[in-house]
Amino acid sequence: MTTIIDGNEVAADVRAGLADGIETLKAEGTTPGLATVLMSDDPASETYVSMKQRDCEEVGINGIHVEIDADAPAEELFDTVDELNADPEVHGILVQMPVPDHVDKRRVLRAIDPVKDVDGFHPENVGRMVAGNARYKPCTPHGIQKLLEAYDVETEGADAVVVGRSDIVGKPMTNLLIQKAPLGNATTTVCHSRTKDLAAKTREADIVVAAVGVPELVTGDMLKDGATVVDVGVNRVDADTDKGYELVGDVEFESAKDVAGRITPVPGGVGPMTRAMLLYNTVKAAGVQTDVAVDL
Ligand code: NDP
Repeated sequence: MTTIIDGNEVAADVRAGLADGIETLKAEGTTPGLATVLMSDDPASETYVSMKQRDCEEVGINGIHVEIDADAPAEELFDTVDELNADPEVHGILVQMPVPDHVDKRRVLRAIDPVKDVDGFHPENVGRMVAGNARYKPCTPHGIQKLLEAYDVETEGADAVVVGRSDIVGKPMTNLLIQKAPLGNATTTVCHSRTKDLAAKTREADIVVAAVGVPELVTGDMLKDGATVVDVGVNRVDADTDKGYELVGDVEFESAKDVAGRITPVPGGVGPMTRAMLLYNTVKAAGVQTDVAVDL
């Protein structure tokens, strides 16, 4: 029997687990605050940001939202980040990516105070994570770790294959899987667009994490019997629905579910976890900045 991993349920548990920490902070006079900054007209980015704000409201985090015209000079974004860095009511800052081409993305990542960098993408935080001393683990791979933990997936000594080497998913996922730490200690192979014979790699894996952005790239015949399959992909494909599209993952769910031991669906797998871990990092950040011990 294949287990369908329920990301909504695990994410709800993560959110419930934040309640005590938020209470403790409030008792000490601090309401955790998350600032989202949007400099884009992209409807998908607008949706992501509004979902993050709604999540904040639900758990009692103070959500602050700043919108900057996509045509505005880059300095407007950097001035906003400076102001948020200096604002004691803001504990986490998230600049929604992608930013327009005339804005230097790497400078944006460096501009955010590392202590408020709840995405975990500032070079200092990336370095700390690689060194095994993460301040804030990036939300998607951290959420995947929580899913694996919730479903008792053994990473210790497991053969893992991560398909994709992006800075936001593939690389940090790989780093977490290879760490000498609980939920790590996996022997990990990283695949990408230049990998020869991807299927030969994934077929050897006890755990496959697909973060590619190619609809249904990983099919059932590319998997080992009983493997745990984590599908990060969110791809819009044309479909005869009201919206004219449907969301599919990077894994072909129908064929994969017959082979996998456990598998995440799209939607309802990794996505809710990414959102929940942003809240987790924000509560953690509020504790770090106020010297209040929060139990997470
Ligand atoms: P990127 O586009 O940044 O990276 C994709 C990676 O996949 C690259 O490393 C690329 O290789 C590799 N790749 C592309 N084609 C192939 C192929 N045919 N075979 C093997 N590897 C390939 O994507 P992201 O990591 O940002 O996102 C991946 C997917 O996850 C997207 O669908 C995105 O929407 C989704 N996503 C979902 C999140 C969630 O919370 N559910 C969060 C973040 C992303 P190369 O480096 O050689 O180009």
